[in-house]
Amino acid sequence: MGKFAPDLTFEKFKENLSPDDFLFSVPALYFSSRRGRVLIVEPESASWIVLPQADFSFLTSTGLINPGSNERTFRKLAGLKLTPPPESPSPADYLLHLLYRLFIRNMVTVNGYSYYQPSSLWRVQKYPHYFNLHLTESCNLACRYCRVDHNNPDPMMMSVETCKKIIKRVLEEIPGQKCIIGFHGGEPLLNIKAVVEGSRYAREVAVSASKELSLSLQTNGLLLDRYSQVLKELQVDVGVSIDGPEEIHNRLRIFRSGRGSFQEVMAGIEAARKSGLNPGFLAVIHEPEDYLTVARFMVEKLKARSFRLNHSCYEGRAKKELSFNLQRAADFAHHWLQLIDFAQEEFVGTGTWLSIDDLNLFVAHLVAKQRPHMCYRSPCGAGNSILGFGHDGRIYPCEELVGKDEFCLGQIDDPIPLDRLLSESELLARLARNRYVDNVPACADCPWRHFHGAGCLNKSYEYFGHTAHRDPMCYFYRTVFEELLWRLSENREIKNLISYYKKYIRIEEEWL
Ligand code: SF4
Ligand code: SF4
Repeated sequence: MGKFAPDLTFEKFKENLSPDDFLFSVPALYFSSRRGRVLIVEPESASWIVLPQADFSFLTSTGLINPGSNERTFRKLAGLKLTPPPESPSPADYLLHLLYRLFIRNMVTVNGYSYYQPSSLWRVQKYPHYFNLHLTESCNLACRYCRVDHNNPDPMMMSVETCKKIIKRVLEEIPGQKCIIGFHGGEPLLNIKAVVEGSRYAREVAVSASKELSLSLQTNGLLLDRYSQVLKELQVDVGVSIDGPEEIHNRLRIFRSGRGSFQEVMAGIEAARKSGLNPGFLAVIHEPEDYLTVARFMVEKLKARSFRLNHSCYEGRAKKELSFNLQRAADFAHHWLQLIDFAQEEFVGTGTWLSIDDLNLFVAHLVAKQRPHMCYRSPCGAGNSILGFGHDGRIYPCEELVGKDEFCLGQIDDPIPLDRLLSESELLARLARNRYVDNVPACADCPWRHFHGAGCLNKSYEYFGHTAHRDPMCYFYRTVFEELLWRLSENREIKNLISYYKKYIRIEEEWL
């Protein structure tokens, strides 16, 4: 850091800069221009700025910003002209102020020192805190994009004994104060015995292990009329999968007979609410033009202010049943971006901001250095933030990898303590290395690499057959990150879309 401390103000920058200091340009910046303004991105530190064309032209004339060249150039401060060009509305100290703004974004360095040390950014936790248990692989629906694609007559139920063993071992053997146990499947409520006994047991062990415990369950909603009351008593946070209004939901979330499940899911949601549960909602979008309709449904029909919209993925049953055309990523980007206008309209109408996953997270990545969610960062959370457990007690780096032998880390009956299993695992070390964004061909020089983090290793594996590949929806991410930056530069209120992530990040206010 040299003579510049963190949280550097312009006054301190000016005070500490001396005429003998050398300013260095930084290579490999990304440039894009639109309507008389220029966006500059510094990929290593995920920093950005939008400048009026006049300021940009002035900077390029100094040689400190070199579009089209990866050469590092340097200038002595004393040799720089510090007055604004006649057409600029900027005040005196014009260049110094511009230099300050570039310096705190790692776009110029002073005497070779950058404001952020890339090696100290993007650190991730060592041990997972989220443990996702597949209580069964069977389901009472046969959704056309299901990741599990279970047609086996064996219901593959996790025994209560295995469930308790996993809970005890993760709570007692994995360091960390906070712990989330998530019940998944298949449809986890088909194994209600494990949900009930596992939840009660987890509460007991959390007390003796002095852990803060949260319990969650993701359901298709069909059994909520039967089990909402017990879930309420167990204090389990419930998420319901519902894909939007009836005509959209019933296309893909179907029974084995082919009949849509919308009416049953809505009845389940009603039962949950009557029992005092406040369920969250997740929709999977397969047709990009459905984004706005589904978002409206969430807000107007379900009265939800917070919900998740995922795009469908090439995996499991979807590989056989759905088509994934080449134009898909561009179409998804186009329609997904309309959610920003929708959220703004909602704010104007109600005075509150919607929370839409992952729009909230992407905005958070633009205004902060923290990466609070396990996905969309490098390395991703597989094995360091999450572990997945199969019904048979096998252990995987992520819930999405459960059941794939090539990613199995071990078995819950193995004697090795779980913290050692993780820290000594060659598979985990290899995945983290291969998947690190700088090691993924095509991502290594991508301007969005530390905003996006190369995407999901499971989705790359499913689509391309190996993990060291960029995300199959790469074009979507490239497009939406750039567009979000432009929108944010035009309207700083968009930062309010970060919603609950504001608890976990420190906004770089100077940037806005
Ligand atoms: S997946 Fe695409 S957008 Fe993401 S870091 Fe890699 S190249 Fe960039
Ligand atoms: S494997 Fe995919 S879903 Fe799992 S933590 Fe990594 S990015 Fe997220």
